[in-house]
Amino acid sequence: MIELENVEITYNDVILAVKGVSLKVAEGQIVALLGANGAGKSSILKAISGVLDSQDGEIERGTIAYGGQRIDRWSAAKIVAAGLCHVPEGRRVFTDLTTQENLIMGAFLRRDRRAVKQDVEKILDYFPRLRERLEVRAGYLSGGEQQMLAIGRALMGRPRLLMLDEPSLGLAPLVVQNIFDIIQRVNREEEISILLVEQNASMALHIAAHGYILENGRMVMDDSCDKLIKNEDVMEFYLGIKEDGGEKSFAEVKHYKRRKRWLS
Ligand code: ATP
Repeated sequence: MIELENVEITYNDVILAVKGVSLKVAEGQIVALLGANGAGKSSILKAISGVLDSQDGEIERGTIAYGGQRIDRWSAAKIVAAGLCHVPEGRRVFTDLTTQENLIMGAFLRRDRRAVKQDVEKILDYFPRLRERLEVRAGYLSGGEQQMLAIGRALMGRPRLLMLDEPSLGLAPLVVQNIFDIIQRVNREEEISILLVEQNASMALHIAAHGYILENGRMVMDDSCDKLIKNEDVMEFYLGIKEDGGEKSFAEVKHYKRRKRWLS
């Protein structure tokens, strides 16, 4: 469905943030993109959704294709209209609008009013919490509710691929579990493909089929999530779990030999 090949991203013509990254999301799949702070995860989502320009960023090399068609020179508006929707980090809802108004804003490209109404209902069934908060201004919602609203608003555009940037950020574990359950349902029931950027590797690997691991702008590993979960390096680096059950410091784990092995 979406395929990146050897993509390089720079900011201000000098900062090389992403170095020759290739990645695929198949139709109907959930794919996790993992990595530490600054690894380049958000830059990849911004490149796919065509919003790098606004941040002095650029795809310097490589290609991005959607359904076999190159989209790396398309405008953000055309990319959204084609069915690729990005929910950026930080739950950016319209704080002065109500929950309901926010949802309707998500359908601004659509003219099928009756279907829009039905979709609002469908989204409120997915997120019953939002139904209770329908007339409340989004700025007064809790962090979890705002995240639900940001995802719900994106779904109002009937995307074919939903790109979620750290939906778990700063949320309580139960809320995260709830949101991840809904992401899985949406994927299954609406057949929407999902590219999930996460630092919560454990949660992401449990719902995704395939995972990519990015380090300093380079893809260092990719495999099925079943295999990544069992991989000793992944467990230590991203889940902080050691074979003997103890914890290791990042400095202890991140020694040169292992890094070399990953990159080889
Ligand atoms: P995080 O998990 O902290 O959000 P990330 O993996 O999403 O990190 P990116 O936000 O893609 O990482 O950033 C990758 C690199 O690009 C970082 O070194 C960052 O400082 C740099 N970068 C990102 N945005 C810009 C920008 N607008 N201008 C200059 N450099 C940027």
